[in-house]
Amino acid sequence: MARVETVNGPISPEELKLTLPHEHLICTFTVWHTAPDEGRKRALVDAPITLANRGDLLRDAGVSCNNLTMLDVDEAIEELMEFKHWGGNSLVELTCPGVGRDPLALRKISQATGINIICPSGFYIGLSHPPLVKKMDIDGVRDFIVKELTEGISYPVETEIKAGVIKCATLYPISEEEEKVFRGAARAQKETGAPFTIHPTLLDVEKKKKVFDQENIIKMIEKEGANLEKFYMSHMDLTCSDDRSKVNVEFHKKLMDKYPIILEYDTIGNESWWNSLWPGALFVSDNERLLAIAELCDQGYEKQLMMSQDVFTKLQRVKYGGWGYAHILKHIVPRLRYMGVSKKQIRTMMIDNPKRILSY
Ligand SMILES: [Zn+2]
Repeated sequence: MARVETVNGPISPEELKLTLPHEHLICTFTVWHTAPDEGRKRALVDAPITLANRGDLLRDAGVSCNNLTMLDVDEAIEELMEFKHWGGNSLVELTCPGVGRDPLALRKISQATGINIICPSGFYIGLSHPPLVKKMDIDGVRDFIVKELTEGISYPVETEIKAGVIKCATLYPISEEEEKVFRGAARAQKETGAPFTIHPTLLDVEKKKKVFDQENIIKMIEKEGANLEKFYMSHMDLTCSDDRSKVNVEFHKKLMDKYPIILEYDTIGNESWWNSLWPGALFVSDNERLLAIAELCDQGYEKQLMMSQDVFTKLQRVKYGGWGYAHILKHIVPRLRYMGVSKKQIRTMMIDNPKRILSY
């Protein structure tokens, strides 16, 4: 019988209920830190986050190591209780080894909040790979992930907690090491049937352009035998508009028509800029995301969409003036309803789709 593998053991898919499919609770994303070239900004690198510097940090989120580090279990519990208060029930915590994955802390947070938490196996962008990845070939990656899904998570410490999802990531262009990890992860999916997500390439830094070639990744993992019905592409909302903020969902429709995958609008609420890392580049605004979701729902694509907030920086948390883990429930759902998205469609995106994709 199908189950969902959480940090507290397997549960029935019915127990998931309202689910955020892409979040972070304990993580260290200093791999994205960029030292500011402008002298006055240097003070921001290790400064505590305050009302006075929050504006500057929102326009250059990667200069602050403090912003990129979330290690406080009690703070995570407090923030997550807000999600629970608004009706939330489950969360996929997609922090990989190399950027601070901590299954034991996740278990503590799950037990304290009553929220079901799913922990990943796999590896993040090449820059963050732990040294052990270099020694693996494609099947070595597969074996590592399969073992974590079936026996228990082994890095950085051995635990009996099993991973319940596969996650990997890439920069642009995809490096050889990242491709090796993708292929190994796809083979692990094939062997276990586990849910699988990839953080794709989003920006071509050289050409200063958004990247719209995520189909190459889909083809690559399909070739390795991964079941695309268990695959969801993370961060696709960042490609729902072009570099001039013009919303265009044709690219997304084409992918969903061609492949039985789910596209994730999972950076909802994140309207930060990263000026030292990608000077002048914008991600997208919530308004663009909502226009795109409403248009896709109008055209019947809700069975291939999921929503999340990818809270991976302190600035996104309530304590630091952000929207927190309940943003979608508090602010986005009412707006979608106003735009004509039905309750049933929201249920499909937030309950039915996570249940279908996370159970195996
Ligand atoms: Zn993430």
